[in-house]
Amino acid sequence: MHVYFFGGGSADGSAADNDLLGGKGANLAEMTRLGLPVPPGFTITTAACNHYFANGEQWPEGMDAQVRTGVARLEEITGKTFGGSANPLLFSVRSGAPVSMPGMMDTVLNLGLNDLTVAALAERSGNERFAWDSYRRFLQMFGDVVLRIHMSRFNRVLSDLAGQRDAAELSLDELQRLCAAYRGVIESATGAFPSDPREQLHAAINAVFSSFNTKRARYYRKTNGIAEDCGTGVNVQAMVFGNMGAGCATGVAFTRDPSTGRRIFFGEWLPDAQGEDVVAGTHTPRALNNEKDPAATDTLEALMPTVYERLYEVQRRLEVHYEDMQDIEFTVEDSRLYLLQTRTGKRTTAAAVQIAVDLVEEGVIDEEEALRRIRPEKLEEVLRPVLDPGAPRRVIGRGLPASPGAASGVVVFHSEEAQELVERGEAVVLVRMETSPEDIQGMTVSEGILTSRGGQTSHAAVVARGMGKPCVVGATEIAVDYGRQLFYAGDTVVRRGDWITLDGSTGEIMEGNVPTLPAATDSGAMSRLLSWADARARLTVRANADNGPDATRARELGAVGIGLCRTEHMFFQQTALRSMRQLILAEDQRARVRALANVLPIQRADFVEIFRAMDGLPVTVRLLDPPLHEFLPASPEDISQVAEDLGVRPEKLQERLDQLHESNPMMGHRGCRLGLTSPEIYDTQVRAILEASVQVSREGLEVLPEIMIPLVGMPEELQRLRERVEQQAEAVLAELGAAVDYKVGTMIELPRACLLADQVAEHADFFSFGTNDLTQMTWGFSRDDMSKFFSAYMLEGLLEDSPLARFDVDGVGQLVKTAVEKGRAAKPRLKIGICGEHGGDPTGVAFFHNAGLDYVSCSPFRVPVARLAAAHAALGLI
Ligand code: PEP
Ligand code: MG
Repeated sequence: MHVYFFGGGSADGSAADNDLLGGKGANLAEMTRLGLPVPPGFTITTAACNHYFANGEQWPEGMDAQVRTGVARLEEITGKTFGGSANPLLFSVRSGAPVSMPGMMDTVLNLGLNDLTVAALAERSGNERFAWDSYRRFLQMFGDVVLRIHMSRFNRVLSDLAGQRDAAELSLDELQRLCAAYRGVIESATGAFPSDPREQLHAAINAVFSSFNTKRARYYRKTNGIAEDCGTGVNVQAMVFGNMGAGCATGVAFTRDPSTGRRIFFGEWLPDAQGEDVVAGTHTPRALNNEKDPAATDTLEALMPTVYERLYEVQRRLEVHYEDMQDIEFTVEDSRLYLLQTRTGKRTTAAAVQIAVDLVEEGVIDEEEALRRIRPEKLEEVLRPVLDPGAPRRVIGRGLPASPGAASGVVVFHSEEAQELVERGEAVVLVRMETSPEDIQGMTVSEGILTSRGGQTSHAAVVARGMGKPCVVGATEIAVDYGRQLFYAGDTVVRRGDWITLDGSTGEIMEGNVPTLPAATDSGAMSRLLSWADARARLTVRANADNGPDATRARELGAVGIGLCRTEHMFFQQTALRSMRQLILAEDQRARVRALANVLPIQRADFVEIFRAMDGLPVTVRLLDPPLHEFLPASPEDISQVAEDLGVRPEKLQERLDQLHESNPMMGHRGCRLGLTSPEIYDTQVRAILEASVQVSREGLEVLPEIMIPLVGMPEELQRLRERVEQQAEAVLAELGAAVDYKVGTMIELPRACLLADQVAEHADFFSFGTNDLTQMTWGFSRDDMSKFFSAYMLEGLLEDSPLARFDVDGVGQLVKTAVEKGRAAKPRLKIGICGEHGGDPTGVAFFHNAGLDYVSCSPFRVPVARLAAAHAALGLI
């Protein structure tokens, strides 16, 4: 069967037929079955659509006859005749895919009009203006959607005739002339206007099928993960008219507020108008009621109280029936309400959480269903500003979505400039080719960060995520010119001081200041939802944080410890950085010791803050990891400035830089290699950790420090460093006359460490997978450079997601499994976690759950994501 009928109180299909009939068709059938006032019609199946594409745009056998039968049944039910000269039956022809693709596909209204039927419609309705207005709408839509005549040709004719006026303001006589002119446009473009309504219907059905396959629809499916072969249904439905004069109206309604989730009935309507007028933005719609604006006048509730009451009842009924918030389209013809569509309403993530929790409290759904309804990765958006969904925007480029949320500001290219402008009260977006630790302050004050290079674990991405700032990285489509203080995005030139807007959830870069909705504060709904998640999860969730405020925020968001404190971030604080540079340039042991003595109190103070924030919870501190050259300046100007500041000759600084230079620093002198060759650095860090631990425990708080050694590839590396850490720790504790229960463990971030995990485990109290490095080292690409070829791999279909963002279960996953098995074989109670970025990636969380890890650790803003993902993993949902 290719055609499913609905009308007269019964329907061939139901909501269960979503895949076959598309969302719109399935719900029209369902509403008909519920006895709701739905204009009768029929739905052509998605299977017929797929057949159409697979068979040279031919209808499947039997469909033509079934369409004819459908039309005949509609004639019978409505008492009207398709193409009839007395009481003509008109149709709307609309698309409807199984997954909503808003605005992507086409619709034709008032189909069946021609010079003859328009006269009949005028006669029958007693409203000539209405009939001709419907005809001009039809000619234009049919010309545009079905005959593919460019809209500008219709617009030109309209402005020749009406000047600045809208078509709605034309007199009857003008409308008639406009229709003749529109017909002229069609005839000159295609030779003839198809007056025969059956021919119109055939062509419109094909046009709706074809709209499924336009470039923009394909792009939408690709970017939203919708199957290419889902097809669209075609809904042919008897027209009802909201534009037939007094007593007529049209509108859209939501059973709850889609922005906040509040339980209010909310929507917009227009009297004497047709559906597209409300959504097209050409008219300003009115409020349905006073729920949002007590001062609103002209509400449907006030002007058509009986209709409103009926609509209110219907929306309640639909929500209870579908057990979710509905988005409803309705039309009122001669004071009678008709429903044209219902679907699960799109909503912000904050609203989704509120609605799910409220529905549990109202007894409509259970806790597990509420958990199921929220996609974990979406939770990161809840506490960030989002783009106003209704705001117009012009996308000028795209990059990788690195940290969600929307940000607008004026473009600056340098960190210092960002700080200056912010001090003057401006909002800025920092645009860089890439960021380095020196940009931290500029990043801190910026609304958002955009880089043209780098992947999802580049410096910019990791730091922005930690800060909870919207960030787009690796936007290879843009070309940054620091010299001229501008960047190119396709044909657009964006200069310093111009406004741009970033969407860190999609990677889109937009021109101008696109309005945003402010970050929601947790109304309590998210906490409730997450408490249900925790009750089901096995994995616990820690956070990656390296300062007190981040640790506090992480705890508020539900982190039960710190899984990674990257101590190098502390060294970028001005005084510490200076000491660090002195250390690197030190000629002898004495100078080194002096420099480290300056670092010690700064580190200790940071640890004190973190330990206080994490009272009673474990804190894993990683000893220094990055190669030393990262602490030194790179550009000639910076080199001379820093040399002056440190009182050394620039040549000397350059000489040291040359010594430290590595062709591939990611595989260079870093991590525990640094600890083994410059042991005094780790000694100082261990001292700072233990002194801080003693101080905070003497304040009566509980401190559970875990010292972590990075980038171990040889069991002996860990063995030696552990010995040294223990010696130093014991020495400090003896000095202070205190005892602290500390642990020593290692990061597992090299394939060799995975393969020898049993031997490594002998020296470790815990393992923490550093999946950023482990991914980089397994794939053999550089975390910082991969975006250069990554976009090409995406286009070629070689990769769907960056393995740095979405955990590579097939490859890196095997190494993780091996390491867990070997590690636990050697030490059955070995505690194992993960602190790479995949700790906040739901695919990763599901994998780590199944691999038997104890915890995941991620940036503070991703803690809710990981908590929900851990529950989804335990419930088998991912
Ligand atoms: C890792 O490699 O996964 C990790 C957490 O360390 P970093 O990102 O600091 O190298
Ligand atoms: Mg690492």
